Amino acid sequence: VFAHIVLAPEDPILGVTVAYNKDQSPVKLNLGVGAYRTEEGKPLVLNVVRKAEQLLVNDQSRVKEYLPITGLADFNKLSAKLIFGDDSPAIQENRVTTVQSLSGTGSLRVGGEFLGKHYHERTIYIPQPTWGNHPKIFTLAGLSVKSYRYYNPQTKGLDFEGMLEDLGAAPSGAIVLIHACAHNPTGVDPTVEQWEQIRTLMRSKGLLPFFDSAYQGFASGNLDSDAQPIRMFVADGGELLAAQSYAKNMGLYGERVGALSIVCRNADVASKVESQLKLVIRPMYSSPPLHGASIVATILKDRNMYDEWKVELKSMADRIISMRHQLFDALNSRGIPGDWSHIIKQIGMFTFTGLNPEQVAFMTKEFHIYMTSDGRISMAGLSSSTVPHLADAIHAAVTR
Ligand code: PMP
Repeated sequence: VFAHIVLAPEDPILGVTVAYNKDQSPVKLNLGVGAYRTEEGKPLVLNVVRKAEQLLVNDQSRVKEYLPITGLADFNKLSAKLIFGDDSPAIQENRVTTVQSLSGTGSLRVGGEFLGKHYHERTIYIPQPTWGNHPKIFTLAGLSVKSYRYYNPQTKGLDFEGMLEDLGAAPSGAIVLIHACAHNPTGVDPTVEQWEQIRTLMRSKGLLPFFDSAYQGFASGNLDSDAQPIRMFVADGGELLAAQSYAKNMGLYGERVGALSIVCRNADVASKVESQLKLVIRPMYSSPPLHGASIVATILKDRNMYDEWKVELKSMADRIISMRHQLFDALNSRGIPGDWSHIIKQIGMFTFTGLNPEQVAFMTKEFHIYMTSDGRISMAGLSSSTVPHLADAIHAAVTR
């Protein structure tokens, strides 16, 4: 009965790793993965995460019962505080509902399904370009996906005019997906002044912000500044959605731990919204997993562990920033034509190099360097020892 089924294409991002794994070359380099690697190229489990896991294992009173549909209550409270700030007026007024979900992706999907069912305007605007999963998530959630201009390939920076024009032309009430920080794949974020203009425009048109926060603390090393755009939109008293992921900032990728928060007009609306979120979640996966959320809650509620996390988080962010500088210097020292300053200006895990698909294919074939065909490289996958190889490959690709 399944003989008619055609082979589906590999996911464009995950497929990069599949190709990398098949390559036998000793110099092969995987810059496609969106996961942190140490200077030695190894995955990292944070010390504070190990510590939290040890505490959890040693606590004999812990059981493996199901969590409620909305997840671990402590985790939800602490996650809302982390993203909106300790003194957030929306939290104090009880008008935020937060549900634990399956990392960033699951939170976006639950939010999308909720909007598809209960929100009057079914159009969501996503930046062009954006993380490849966004259009699929929201289409399957029943929303109609449109895009707004975001990136200018000429300047390798923000197309701010284009963005304002497209948001200004969106139907009133439309949903707008916003990367809270460290835009993926471009690494280009608006400045605080630009956020303020975006906020004013969106609120004046009644556009509903849906923030995707996959890199809080991972972009700048500072949890508060990476959440600033979201907090600006909370401070004006308006409504919004926010999807949070602990994949990158706590290195909990495979634990699938994240949260969806919806900031509502008042506490009564928030409790009704939560009751409907339960109806979205129950038939989807019943309730979320326990372990990852317990790790996060253990760390966030203990002052010392929280401080330890911030130090480890900053050291990941700093290593990535240092890779940007090392690559930039290596390209300059080779006298490679063109302006490569975007490498040090862009923010977060990825650099949008500006290399075209032919140059990417050349680098993969000749230098065994793997990345997505849009020229996005993961700075977290680089180390001091691999920067020269990458710089040589870029040199050869652009002067070919
Ligand atoms: N949003 C963006 C922009 C991302 O880059 C990612 C991870 N690549 C996610 C959401 C979701 O990741 P996860 O589901 O692993 O938390």
